[in-house]
Amino acid sequence: MAAQRYQLYINGKWVDADGGRTFEVRDPATGDHVADIADAGAAETRRGIQAAHQAFPSWAATPAKQRGEILRKVQGLMQERVDEIAKLVVLENGKPFAEARGEVGFSLGYFGWFAEEARRAYGALVPSPFPNKRLWVVGQPVGVVAAITPWNFPANMITRKIAPAMAAGCTVVLKPASATPMTALAIARACHDAGVPPGVLNVITGARSVPIAEELMGNPLVKKVGFTGSTEVGKTLMERAAKQIKRISFELGGNAPFIVFEDADLAAAVEGAVAIKYLRVGGQSCICANRLYVQETVADRFIPAFVEKVKALKVGSGFEPGMQVGPLINEEGRKKVHGLVEDAVARGATVLAGGGPLKEGPLAKGYFYAPTVLTNVKDQWPVCQEEIFGPVAPILTFKTEEELIRRANDTTFGLASYLYTRDLGRVVRVAESLEYGLVGVNDAAGYTHEIPFGGFKESGLGREGGQEGLEEYMETKSIVVNLPG
Ligand code: NAP
Repeated sequence: MAAQRYQLYINGKWVDADGGRTFEVRDPATGDHVADIADAGAAETRRGIQAAHQAFPSWAATPAKQRGEILRKVQGLMQERVDEIAKLVVLENGKPFAEARGEVGFSLGYFGWFAEEARRAYGALVPSPFPNKRLWVVGQPVGVVAAITPWNFPANMITRKIAPAMAAGCTVVLKPASATPMTALAIARACHDAGVPPGVLNVITGARSVPIAEELMGNPLVKKVGFTGSTEVGKTLMERAAKQIKRISFELGGNAPFIVFEDADLAAAVEGAVAIKYLRVGGQSCICANRLYVQETVADRFIPAFVEKVKALKVGSGFEPGMQVGPLINEEGRKKVHGLVEDAVARGATVLAGGGPLKEGPLAKGYFYAPTVLTNVKDQWPVCQEEIFGPVAPILTFKTEEELIRRANDTTFGLASYLYTRDLGRVVRVAESLEYGLVGVNDAAGYTHEIPFGGFKESGLGREGGQEGLEEYMETKSIVVNLPG
């Protein structure tokens, strides 16, 4: 298949990068060169910001109902194109087609959810302590928003930002991950075709993130930054945002504990653990189970059942029917995962499944890694402290609830956590004690559009989704009206 060529989207037009520069996107399952993408830098980013700035007053003044109708059209068009967009996700990200289709189908729901929420951004009429004064509290769009997104959910991480931003009346400059720009441009195409006015959404792609991000962070016309990515990059962006006190929403890394108590439905716990460890981008998700904690008394039943399921997982190209685990995003990602496994083994871990890269036959050219299970590991080892971002499950055991809570919270991250138990008192105690933004109780499916999602500690700031997801893109203004005497 010949490589497709993609342009930037600025002010409602498809344009080349200055000098016609492009960069390549490669399929992580085959290494094939699949697309040439416009390679922008600071100058094109500035033009995107300028377009967003010019479009802002009229979009902000458009009634929320009317903005919502346009967003609902975007949702409809993405639904019509779900297979087409999912194929792009598989091509550039590698996840299995059914999973990619699920991601795109979920991601478009944010346009519907926020189209509705924007109509209910009521504000408040506050009872005044003075007879001659009236107190109003209103929400107003924050202004031009920069959205910077990662490659692991090339559709969902974008719509979770641009849908609430546009619904609130903000205009957006989006910088997608360089590994997965095609999905971003397909979403922009749906916005364009649905009638999103020129300048309301702009997409700047580039192989070099730093000049684009420098312009987004340094340009005073940008009022808010929505970032999803690693905690490391988040910290550098936060320092830069501080210079202008830009508003920020950050969704960063995770280190999710998956906890199995002795009274759990063990079959459901095994099912849930496999799903949240291996079946979300092959473990390259911020909410993936990173460490499994199994109560000592049931470890000899849980572990063999879990290992049996892991060994049966089908690893291969996302376009092959029936595949469940795709490749890692690139060789650097695979080396990092394998480094954590090698380190654990050198310290004395036992490998019960997998343990290394897969390089045979049709997997030879991709970045595949065997679904891996490790036991005899310790909390303080890197494999339990760092975000693994791959199909590797270290299993630890614990004796008591108190001990478990202490160990599960002993991390700088705080994004997602999971616990399986049938004891209601324990559900309440443990769920309330876990220092995580999301707690799945007998549930490993993650979140929905309707609830806020985000992290404690170094996993982030702010929330996406729910009612809160809209508020992140609005300023609160209090209006004090002194009535004439
Ligand atoms: P990343 O390296 O931090 O990159 C994220 C975005 O930032 C990309 O667009 C990237 O551009 C850009 N970027 C990279 N270095 C930069 C720099 N020095 N200055 C400015 N921008 C920079 O993260 P990733 O590898 O794409 O994604 C994986 C991470 O995202 C994991 O830590 C994961 O936990 C986190 N994540 C969190 C959530 C959540 O909801 N909390 C969801 C998904 C993922 P390039 O692509 O051009 O490098």
